[in-house]
Amino acid sequence: MMIGHFALGVATKKMVPAMPIWILLLAPQFMDVFFVPFVFLGLESFEFGPYGHLSLNIQYSHSLVGALAIALAAYWVGNRFWKSSRGGIVLASLSFSHWVLDVLMHRPDMVILPGNLGNLPVLGFGLWNYEITSLTTEVAMAVIAVILYFHWAWKEQKDTRWFVGPAIIILFFAVLITSEIQNFPTL
Ligand SMILES: [Zn+2]
Repeated sequence: MMIGHFALGVATKKMVPAMPIWILLLAPQFMDVFFVPFVFLGLESFEFGPYGHLSLNIQYSHSLVGALAIALAAYWVGNRFWKSSRGGIVLASLSFSHWVLDVLMHRPDMVILPGNLGNLPVLGFGLWNYEITSLTTEVAMAVIAVILYFHWAWKEQKDTRWFVGPAIIILFFAVLITSEIQNFPTL
């Protein structure tokens, strides 16, 4: 799930108009941002496959404790820079939403404690096993997010270039969706 995470960020803009769209797009991906250095450190790894067929070792960045720690850091950042928009809560919620969506989508690879300490149950409901359902869900989330964002921008119409932001977001999702469809295993 890539599209769905970004969609949540875009859908939030309407509720916190003072927060820039780039941070709302980034916050739901904070956990994946941490994943990158962990791959370089050899703590985590991935193997690319068609849509929904990634195999992932994400035992730190995507552990429940890791997700909570990253959400806490997001809370600090949000509070520091966007206090008046309740930025702490907004960024922490968006950051933690990544864990919730990934638990729904992933096959069981989401651990509770970092490094799968104590061999606790590994979570993942595996919506990815139903490729068409999961891709449709993601596309639907993107469409709803774009409608909400466009509607907000249209009502605000702060200046004559109000449509530039929504247009870029629509293009962004169009590129993401196209690349996911190209990776689709049954096509
Ligand atoms: Zn992730």
